[in-house]
Formats: sequence, structure tokens, C-alpha cells
Amino acid sequence: MTAAPREGEIIVLGGRRTPRRKWVLNALIDSNGFVSAQALYTRLVGMGSPVGLSTVYRTLRVLTESGRADIVRDSNGERLFRYRPSAEHQHYILCRRCGLSTAVEAAAVEAWAKRVATFSGFAEVEHTVELSGLCPQCRGGG
Ligand SMILES: [Zn+2]
Ligand SMILES: [Zn+2]
Repeated sequence: MTAAPREGEIIVLGGRRTPRRKWVLNALIDSNGFVSAQALYTRLVGMGSPVGLSTVYRTLRVLTESGRADIVRDSNGERLFRYRPSAEHQHYILCRRCGLSTAVEAAAVEAWAKRVATFSGFAEVEHTVELSGLCPQCRGGG
């Protein structure tokens, strides 16, 4: 996956659901919680899917950009993905130790982002806010 797809290609891919991308989407939906692209790929291979790792990355990117997947980073900086049932924007707090993720209230962030968009004059402003820490169980267990 050295060659990154160009913008135009992403948009075209986002418009139609190819069988291979459907494999990726279904595997993502079946995964409970956040998964890495590599883990998803391993899972697909186990299912007998013909999907390549580059397709997994590309599909995850399309899903993220179209608001159908949430993305966070783990402690190693690796990106983790999760299917988002509704197109509604959501933020999560992720446990760096066990990977537990929980949706969090972020009205202040949304209001701030909207304000910045308005005053900056920018259009189609997007944001990514990632929260990570140790969940109650992990901080207690030492
Ligand atoms: Zn934890
Ligand atoms: Zn937000």
C-alpha cells in the first residue's frame, strides 16, 4: 500500500459499492469495537476473502471520509476503525491498555468547531478529536 489513491479515485470509489469493498464493510460491521486495518485484513483472509490489504485501507478511508466509520489511534499511533451505524458524527474515548471505547458527549467541541468554521469562512470544515486514557478497570488493576 505504498501508492496512495488520488482524490478523484476516492470519490469514485465512494460512489459505488464494489463487491470487494462490501467484504471490508461487512467485516468492519461484524467487528465489535475498534479494529486496525491489519486486523481487519487478517480477518478477511480467514473468511476466504480475495480482498487485498490496499483495498482494506482504501475502503476504510472512504468509509471514514463519508462518515460511516470512526477513527481513533492507539498508543502506538496505529489507526483503529469502527463502523458507525448512523451518519451522525460521534467522538469516543479509548482505553490505551484494553482498547475499550466509549462514545462521549462533545457538544462543546461541536459548538466550537461550528464557530470556527463560521468565522474562518471555510466550507466543509471537518474535525477529528481523539481522547485516550486508562479505563476505570485498567487504572484500578495496576
Ligand atoms: Zn482498559
Ligand atoms: Zn465532533
